[in-house]
Amino acid sequence: MSGDTFFKQLDEQFAKDFYTREPSELAEYGKDWTKVFLPNPCAIAFPRSAIEVSKLVKLCVKNKVAIVPSGGRTGLAGGAVAPNGEIVLSLKRMNKMQPVNPTSLTVRVEAGAVTQAVHEHCAPEGLTWPVDFASKGSSTIGGNISTNAGGVKVIRYGLTRNWVLGLQVVTMNGDIIEFNGDLEKNNSGTDLRQLFIGTEGTLGIITEATLKLARLPGELDVFFFGLKSIPDVLKLFTEARRGPFTLNAFETFTDNCLKAVLNHRKMYSPLTSDSPCYVLMEVERATTSASKNEVENWLASLFDRELVCDGVLAQTPREATDIWTLREGIAESLAAINMNHKHDVSVPIAKLEPFIAELSQSLKQTYKQFNAFVFGHIGDGNLHFNVVKPNDMSKEDFLKNMSFIDQDLFKLIQKYSGSVSAEHGIGLLKKKALHYTRTSVEMVYLKSIKKVFDPENLLNPGKIFDL
Ligand SMILES: Cc1cc2nc3c(=O)[nH]c(=O)nc-3n(C[C@H](O)[C@H](O)[C@H](O)COP(=O)(O)OP(=O)(O)OC[C@H]3O[C@@H](n4cnc5c(N)ncnc54)[C@H](O)[C@@H]3O)c2cc1C
Repeated sequence: MSGDTFFKQLDEQFAKDFYTREPSELAEYGKDWTKVFLPNPCAIAFPRSAIEVSKLVKLCVKNKVAIVPSGGRTGLAGGAVAPNGEIVLSLKRMNKMQPVNPTSLTVRVEAGAVTQAVHEHCAPEGLTWPVDFASKGSSTIGGNISTNAGGVKVIRYGLTRNWVLGLQVVTMNGDIIEFNGDLEKNNSGTDLRQLFIGTEGTLGIITEATLKLARLPGELDVFFFGLKSIPDVLKLFTEARRGPFTLNAFETFTDNCLKAVLNHRKMYSPLTSDSPCYVLMEVERATTSASKNEVENWLASLFDRELVCDGVLAQTPREATDIWTLREGIAESLAAINMNHKHDVSVPIAKLEPFIAELSQSLKQTYKQFNAFVFGHIGDGNLHFNVVKPNDMSKEDFLKNMSFIDQDLFKLIQKYSGSVSAEHGIGLLKKKALHYTRTSVEMVYLKSIKKVFDPENLLNPGKIFDL
């Protein structure tokens, strides 16, 4: 059947504004934040309900048109990119949120609801969906669930997977299935809901979710420390986990990251001296003065033992926000310098120290002409490091060099039993590296699961792996 027939059927079955083929919209909705893949979708559809999603899916299968599910397009692995004439299925119009249920501590939302809007919706009830990161103003619940997003609060709350109670999914048969509903406990066999979490829209289209909510944290202290070395960061992390508070976030970055943000955002460092690396730590504690004293004593002991070189505790909400900006502004500040080659890898926490030592050694010896900007959620064993293209190097040479760095890094990851993707996913970007983390036996099962849900390979084809 020709493309014309497909669009004729769309025109017959849906409202006039259901889809667009406007070139600027194709360019915009066909890409994500990776910006390295050329978008080439045939159209962008904007359904308003699961029933419309189901109708569209059936029509696509009949006409053999591939579909790319799309949320806020903040993904960093190319999962929402449509490079091969696919139709992009944007969940943008499906953003309704039901009232918060204060008894079950849940909220039911449509998949296109923006993460930050969900936070704002729940806050008046003293509750939050504790998935939090810099792109929350654009990312959507469907995208967060499909990427099993991590972020800056994983150390306290765990990954997105822990905060999804029920899912409504449209499969490639056009079935609209509810998985688990509002059940806290459901031991009735295989939990199919989990198959749609973290599989980057390759098995079904998430249309609604029942989210579990956490109590909004009370009194928060935000610290910013300067430290001599990564081993000291890990020592501080061990101390912080034993500290007189609940650890909410423990984020690390190197001095070149700080300089990039200060320069880009025209800010000043809150510290009086420079250090090789920094830690942003957010903790929750009781509101009593005794608890405040305990935290202050703990802080003083860090200096007494020379565990940190410098440090401040934010005294006002404004100061706390400014410290968070130093962490959350890294990605955009590095992007402003030049082209970035990004990494998002993880190793078991207990192996972080030797892994980082070996990685730094290899970068220093073999790739000394490159400047690596290291940051990340070190408390989760998750390191990001970006390499910024030197001004005097061509894009081709840069990419060639980066592919060598990748090979060395991924071999090291394999040696330390880590993952080539800690939280951003595989998408198109890491497909070739997947074998460093997944065995060939695992791949056989993963491909079989894909074929059960998408026998014609029309849902986000070519993402994570090729069939
Ligand atoms: C500045 C910045 C900071 C970031 N920080 C973090 C971080 O700390 N931690 C982290 O984990 N990520 C981070 N990200 C990455 C990104 O924000 C997350 O992966 C986010 O969860 C993606 O949500 P989205 O709605 O933008 O999804 P999209 O990019 O639109 O899509 C992501 C994937 O999900 C699929 N998808 C989207 N919606 C659906 C749906 N309804 N049904 C089925 N599949 C769907 C897409 O096909 C694609 O494969 C960051 C990104 C930026 C730009």
